[in-house]
Amino acid sequence: MNQLRRFLIESAEARGDWASIDQGWQEIVGLANYPDTVRQWVGEALGAGLLLSSNLKSGGLLTLQVRGSGKIGLLVVQVGADGHYRATAEYSETPLAGESLDTVFGDGSLLINLALPGAREDYQALVPLEGNSFAAALEGYFARSEQLPTRVCLGADAQSVTAMLVQRLPESLQKDAQDWERVEALFGTLGADELNNLDVETMLHRLFHEEQVRVYDPKPLTFQCRCSRERVSAMVQNLGEEDAQALLAEQGKISVDCEFCKANYAFDSADVALLFAANPGQGSDTLQ
Ligand SMILES: [Zn+2]
Repeated sequence: MNQLRRFLIESAEARGDWASIDQGWQEIVGLANYPDTVRQWVGEALGAGLLLSSNLKSGGLLTLQVRGSGKIGLLVVQVGADGHYRATAEYSETPLAGESLDTVFGDGSLLINLALPGAREDYQALVPLEGNSFAAALEGYFARSEQLPTRVCLGADAQSVTAMLVQRLPESLQKDAQDWERVEALFGTLGADELNNLDVETMLHRLFHEEQVRVYDPKPLTFQCRCSRERVSAMVQNLGEEDAQALLAEQGKISVDCEFCKANYAFDSADVALLFAANPGQGSDTLQ
């Protein structure tokens, strides 16, 4: 648990990723107190994010964001190459159990953003919310972006999130599809409930015991927010001094809650004065 494992199905020229979290997920669920159906969608999106983070280079950050006009208006998942993850959602209405992706997210789209250290620009992909699940949307993404047949299974409940994918290796594409079809058929017997209740070794044995499978070392996954007083200070500075002072006058202090971990950052008049004295923003013309 709380780790990402890569594996190779050597006998069938396919690879895979398996990720599972419990402790941090329970923390996220406890902080946000989501209704069951919202929790389910956040969990599946987080599972998808954990799988997508498997290829991140050191220092990289993956953001998966769904924004739309449906019952869940915003869902954001972030996973760093260091295995730190966080997730949040905003909803205006509680989805019903079993509702489809487009009903829950409206005409939304799924944005996958990869920020890589040293890269001039982030890599971005806009994924249509096709099919009935994030698993189906993710399979579509891999088919388009990597042009590799991929199968995804995502499981989430109140206790844990477990996600798994299998993917055909590029070098096998010229060959007969028989091996891949076998992997696909075996993977197709996997249900989300089962996925959520078995460890990786048992899971791989259950599915691929007739194949030669190599499992790589685990990478730890930890719920850790990326917010800090410095980051929130920068947000307040971005408001400009005039707007910050107006907010202060109206509310007595500037109070910002992190939507991911619910940490509260408060700035009183002395804090705000200091912020703009230290870093005169665009709104300031009295300093410098
Ligand atoms: Zn936070």
